[in-house]
Amino acid sequence: MVDLVGVTRSFPGPPVVEALRDVSLRVDPGEYLSIIGPSGSGKSTLLNILGLLDRPTDGEYLLDGVPTGTASEATRSALRGGRIGFVFQSFHLLPQRTVLDNVLLATLYSGVPRDERVPRATAALERVHLTHRTQFQPTTLSGGERQRVAVARAIVAAPHLLLADEPTGNLDSASSGEVMDLFDELHADGLTLAVITHDPVVSARAQRRVRIADGRLEELDR
Ligand code: ADP
Ligand code: MG
Repeated sequence: MVDLVGVTRSFPGPPVVEALRDVSLRVDPGEYLSIIGPSGSGKSTLLNILGLLDRPTDGEYLLDGVPTGTASEATRSALRGGRIGFVFQSFHLLPQRTVLDNVLLATLYSGVPRDERVPRATAALERVHLTHRTQFQPTTLSGGERQRVAVARAIVAAPHLLLADEPTGNLDSASSGEVMDLFDELHADGLTLAVITHDPVVSARAQRRVRIADGRLEELDR
């Protein structure tokens, strides 16, 4: 599914920063991977590359076998919209819209046919156990519920790969537990997950762990 081959990402300075150095990583369909590492080690840079939000300076990234490094922006956005879902630390929900609208908006550019949008958004909210909150505004929800709305938004277009950047970073331990339980359920349903975290409790829930330090990736416990 994911195949990074000798990926380097450097930011032109001065001073030049090598945020990723010669990273190779293969993630098979259905894997649940966690990525840990200290602040500034390159985790978000890696996630941005995996999510086709950024390109390697060197090396190649194949997504489902498709080389993406030199692909056009149109190809990359089509791949991103159809195959990748994102969850961020700070939820990124629209506060003035209902929960249902927040999820519906994510169907607009992902090829979901018009008459399937409401049923799909409703089903996504059911999957994150928020059927009773569809008409609420995000500001009235707990942190854990907000992040579950963000997960519903991330999965509404049926991605193959879910990328999460510190998804529990703003949550207390009970809410974090809710989000992790949900990730377990999605994994059991066959979704591929890559979760960036500082938190050893969160990282321990994944099936496979990698660590990144100074832009270099190493496999843990295998
Ligand atoms: P993490 O998510 O692990 O905290 P990042 O991937 O955000 O780390 O950053 C890795 C390194 O790359 C840091 O030294 C950071 O300052 C640098 N960096 C990240 N994005 C940029 C950018 N757009 N321009 C310059 N340097 C950047
Ligand atoms: Mg980061």
